Amino acid sequence: MLRSHTCGELKFEDVNKEVTLTGWVQKVRDKGGLIWIDIRDRYGITQLLLEDGRSDSEVVKTARQLGREYVIKASGKVIERVSENPNLATGRIEIDLTGLDILNSSITPPFTIEDDTDGGEELRMKYRYLDLRRQPLRKNLELRNRLSIETRKYLDDQKFFEIETPYLIKSTPEGARDFVVPSRMNEGQFYALPQSPQTFKQLLMVAGYDRYYQLVKCFRDEDLRADRQPEFTQIDCEMAFVEQDDILSTFEGMVKYLFKTVKGIDIPELPRMDYADAMKFYGSDKPDIRFGMKFVELNDVAQNKGFKVFDDAELVVGFVADGCAEYSRKQLDKLTEFVKKPQIGAKGLVYVKCNEDGSFKSSVDKFFDQDALKSWSDKISAKSGDLLFVLSGEKDKVRKQLNELRLEMGNRMELRDPNVFAPLWVVDFPLLEWDEDSKRYHAMHHPFTSPKPEDISMLDTKPGEVRANAYDLVINGVEIGGGSIRIHDRDLQKLMFKHLGFTDEEAQDQFGFLLNAFEYGAPPHGGIALGFDRLTALFGGQDSIRDFIAFPKNNSGRDIMIDSPSIIADDQLDELNLKVTV
Ligand code: ASP
Repeated sequence: MLRSHTCGELKFEDVNKEVTLTGWVQKVRDKGGLIWIDIRDRYGITQLLLEDGRSDSEVVKTARQLGREYVIKASGKVIERVSENPNLATGRIEIDLTGLDILNSSITPPFTIEDDTDGGEELRMKYRYLDLRRQPLRKNLELRNRLSIETRKYLDDQKFFEIETPYLIKSTPEGARDFVVPSRMNEGQFYALPQSPQTFKQLLMVAGYDRYYQLVKCFRDEDLRADRQPEFTQIDCEMAFVEQDDILSTFEGMVKYLFKTVKGIDIPELPRMDYADAMKFYGSDKPDIRFGMKFVELNDVAQNKGFKVFDDAELVVGFVADGCAEYSRKQLDKLTEFVKKPQIGAKGLVYVKCNEDGSFKSSVDKFFDQDALKSWSDKISAKSGDLLFVLSGEKDKVRKQLNELRLEMGNRMELRDPNVFAPLWVVDFPLLEWDEDSKRYHAMHHPFTSPKPEDISMLDTKPGEVRANAYDLVINGVEIGGGSIRIHDRDLQKLMFKHLGFTDEEAQDQFGFLLNAFEYGAPPHGGIALGFDRLTALFGGQDSIRDFIAFPKNNSGRDIMIDSPSIIADDQLDELNLKVTV
């Protein structure tokens, strides 16, 4: 190594040692006689000291040529620092320089490489290699690395095998849109990049590898959001000879292990909530249970009192915000505007203030007297000083709207602390979900998920009510993972395909390999996949996954550093038998 130590490790105990450091120039302060240089590498920052007149004049001369981000090699003696910097791991020492080499120069970087940078998102993405020099990003990647190592440790300990599955696979219509890759050797034919290794991991179970995992890239051509990237990483797992409980306990164990080893947090047993209850009490299949404000249905106390909006509604539902009766008109107007935003779509917001003196003040006083309002407040278990919010309308819609308001209130009341973690399992998802566009049922999870045996008879009569052996891991309102017990019986898998609108030929054509495999002794099996980028961002206390990925894409799915996607040359297109007509 060109260095004897890193820029993050020298301590008071090292005083008097002769050392050599390498790194980038973070800052040079030249106060005439004294020159300080901050040298940075991946491990930290160390201060270098020079004194005009005392230090070697060649070294002083070199120091005066330095600019930000120059790469240097600096040698000298560790000395005690006169004024300590408690914010720095190396804050008690500095290096009295005796040698200084410029290993490479740098042009002025387009933004400051400090914890708080002046660089905008696009600029930082364009010069990602500079952005990655910043401590916050470095810390994120360090966290990612730690999580991947601990994940592997845990799974290895549990006898899981990491097995790679192919990236060039076959396009199938179910799920999200595929990214496709043209095949040069097979004219007119395309590979698809995997949205997940789902069928491969199931085939590995048929092959007898009864505990599989892989930290694997998955590709989905979907519209992007802060927590979505066209390529992302999953901790993908599958187990054979298991029931749902075995999978939940294995991965509950992993969640607890990761929180303990990486964050030092003890997580108690994960609660399990039925999908139906999650929707009823939180209006979401990924409830944030760091805080209460559970929904209470008010149809019996709020309907038939002459308020048409409520009387016509399928559901009248509300929750209580503790101690918020003092909210001003302005605050309430803001919340009303919030629920009326087109993305949320409520027509209005009804509120009831439970005053300290036991009286009530509501936005619907015209229709409801004090007794009526008291009956709502009793039903919702409100106390004086609390504020009730009530929405009404079509059941599914109104629950979603109230969920948005609940989360917004959670934010306003600062109940969503990113350093508090509340994981849970949401279980018993519906097997199928109605799709208005195609006017047919789709698999809510994927077509390989098994229905609950006791619900199979409803497949023909009430398909929407059939429950699946499917589960999600939810932490702090974020879906971190999901999985299911799979179908391992060929006839049941064929029946599923039929219910999903596949003809026998289509099913055989697209999934024949799986149906065939199921004829050769497929064991009962099931699994789960956790979003590794999301998990890392959550551990890092952030919503966006972008800064936990070394080289992410922007909102339009572009890598603006390498400028991709890009046009390819005509002869390349020819070779691939692709003609572009624009
Ligand atoms: N393959 C599924 C997914 O990517 C997860 C699973 O069922 O294991 O969502």
